[in-house]
Amino acid sequence: MAAVTVTRFAPSPTGRLHPGHAWSAILAHDFARARGGRFLLRIEDIDGTRSRPEHVATLVEDLRWLGLEWDGEIVFQSRRLHLYAGALERLRAMGLLYPCFCTRAEIAAASLSAPHGPEPVYPGTCRGVDAAARMDELHCWRIDMAKAAALAGPLAWRDHGGAIAADPLAAGDVVLARKDAPASYHLAVTVDDAAQGVTDVVRGRDLFAATHIHRLLQALLGLPVPDYHHHDLLLGPDGERLAKRHGSPTLAALREAGEDGPALADMLRAGRLPIAGARG
Ligand code: GLU
Repeated sequence: MAAVTVTRFAPSPTGRLHPGHAWSAILAHDFARARGGRFLLRIEDIDGTRSRPEHVATLVEDLRWLGLEWDGEIVFQSRRLHLYAGALERLRAMGLLYPCFCTRAEIAAASLSAPHGPEPVYPGTCRGVDAAARMDELHCWRIDMAKAAALAGPLAWRDHGGAIAADPLAAGDVVLARKDAPASYHLAVTVDDAAQGVTDVVRGRDLFAATHIHRLLQALLGLPVPDYHHHDLLLGPDGERLAKRHGSPTLAALREAGEDGPALADMLRAGRLPIAGARG
């Protein structure tokens, strides 16, 4: 018997939802429902500086308004820190992590010549430094990517059915435990997708680069590998990303403008944008 399809929507409660988020949630929801599967809701609230509890209630309200229903209880990452700590400990015991004391400014200055993607690639300043005497200083934990990738060997994942070769080295020594949070997005998402039995990760193309890292972590931690379906991002008429676009309407604004949630969801499914309603 084929495994039951499990997808998830995993928003970070850092603000109101936009049609771009709705689009991602609808795709993940419909993917599961079309296969008689389960659709889960996970709140990625480990970023203590940006996550706000009040945004959890509003995003739940927004998803319900769109007519999306999820299965089971909502999972909060902030209540699962022990799981991430366990995974971190395993990686540390494998000799793959090192503490990093650099400030953002130091990293930005040292990486100026090599910016790849949204985050500068860490230049490796603290790698190989004897940190034993400095452990009372504020630090994060980074993965020694070259060592980890060599240990894991060649890796690939399935995306829209095709094979993608993982290239985790391009990301550099990413942070797995932050100075201000006991886990990073990369670690938490990898641990949770496995723990929740997610078979199909349906998420935006903006996270494609992160999948190279997640695939490596799966290999190191012996976790199952879901199929991925990175979808195109919703763009406004000006070609800019709707989620980021200045003045792009929130779902709350559309609701207040008298839009109907399920009708809006169907509009997005049909490839039409709900911009006009927001202008009125
Ligand atoms: N929490 C992430 C975000 O809001 C998404 C995580 C994921 O889908 O893997 O961008």
